[in-house]
Amino acid sequence: MSYDFDLLVIGAGSGGVRASRMAAAKGAKVAVIENRYLGGTCVNVGCVPKKLFVYASEYAEKIEEAKGFGVHGQLNEFDWPTLRDNKTREIERLNGIYNNLLENSGATILHGTGSIIDAHTVDVDGKTYTAERILIATGGWPYKPDIPGIEHAITSNEAFYLEAFPKRVVVVGGGYIAVEFAGIFNGLGADTTLVYRGEQILRGFDDDVREFAVEQVAAKGVKIQTQCDIDRIEKLSDGTLMCHMQSGGRIACDSVMYATGRRPMTDGLNLEKLGVEMREDGTIVVDDFFRTRVPSIFALGDVIGTPALTPVALAQGMKLVAQQFDGDTSAMNYDNIATAVFCQPNIATVGLTEAEAVARCSDDITVYQSSFRPMKHTLSGLPERSLMKLVVQTSSDKVLGAHMVGPDAGEIMQGLAVAIKMGATKADFDQTIGIHPTAAEEFVTMR
Ligand code: NDP
Repeated sequence: MSYDFDLLVIGAGSGGVRASRMAAAKGAKVAVIENRYLGGTCVNVGCVPKKLFVYASEYAEKIEEAKGFGVHGQLNEFDWPTLRDNKTREIERLNGIYNNLLENSGATILHGTGSIIDAHTVDVDGKTYTAERILIATGGWPYKPDIPGIEHAITSNEAFYLEAFPKRVVVVGGGYIAVEFAGIFNGLGADTTLVYRGEQILRGFDDDVREFAVEQVAAKGVKIQTQCDIDRIEKLSDGTLMCHMQSGGRIACDSVMYATGRRPMTDGLNLEKLGVEMREDGTIVVDDFFRTRVPSIFALGDVIGTPALTPVALAQGMKLVAQQFDGDTSAMNYDNIATAVFCQPNIATVGLTEAEAVARCSDDITVYQSSFRPMKHTLSGLPERSLMKLVVQTSSDKVLGAHMVGPDAGEIMQGLAVAIKMGATKADFDQTIGIHPTAAEEFVTMR
């Protein structure tokens, strides 16, 4: 049987593009279908524009910090259209780079919406293509709960393109996106309230990290309201949005941003009809080889329910190509994935939280923890503090987890992730000479 393509990828996001390029480089005949933008969430409405906004949000505080060093400046104005439009230009530049990367690899880009017709056939806006393998890499989309007035609320997708910068913002949710955007809005000067339904934000992170981070984020000016949710949103005649809280209280604002999770984007793919198995939350079930229940249909990235992180999708794309075109028979290893939340200060983590380590090793655990004032703030006068924590298995001396809240935590954690992935012990950390004076050296001096 001959097909138009060896691999037909639906979705040109991080995972889809990487799989397409790598497969094409191996000599496979590849096409990638995309109906929105090249680069997916990460490039267009995720990691990249978010990080640019995070940088922007840190300047006002830097001007304050500088005074203690005798450097006097003044914040005159924040010009939102400049930031928004410069960011958009950069995204467009990256879209072009993605286009070139794909074309130069030999992959064909099919602009349109893919719909799978059978195990080897995909319709793209009325034209059909056949492929030996079909790869679903369609990612996720923000989810908003269905409450009265929800149409007045935005998600992170729209936050990147707001017409005007809001003076008062309510951010709903307690995960990565909510905490990062609360920091962005607050840092750029909006009166920011973070509303979270549970007891403590950042579920899944180490409990000490959560507690410490909440204090630091609140000290920067974000008003955090926990065990609290919005019942309905009312738009007043002057454009003000009134959030009616379940508690009976009200919060007036100019913008409400929901960051209440993301859902897999599988609408229109015909997955149920094809017999592709999905979980209750809509994620696609795959085996160690990214194969769905239909042997010629594969899936990877946010759509399969593994950690929704760009580097995970990239690694999956490369793994799939190695398995399909290079004879690799091993599965992806999801242990010790380092991750960071780019709030102020950063949170970064790799490996087990203390609670996870206790669940695995009961009392065979030793915890090393240090909290200190970063050196810069001895002169800046800012009250900000940092936290570092190592979770160690006592009997083996293996470092099971590293956690940090503090400036550059994301940058610092990457190196520690290598050490932990290699099985470093606390003795290995202790024998490592620190770089002085840095915050990072604390990780090798904790006793
Ligand atoms: P998360 O799943 O991390 O967080 C969703 C939050 O919304 C949780 O606090 C959840 O509460 C709350 N929530 C869910 N449903 C409702 C509801 N109906 N009403 C009120 N609150 C609700 O999702 P995000 O959208 O923040 O991010 C999605 C993923 O994207 C992340 O998990 C991460 O993998 C990735 N990401 C990574 C980043 C990074 O690496 N820096 C940055 C941004 C995103 P509860 O805790 O009670 O469930």
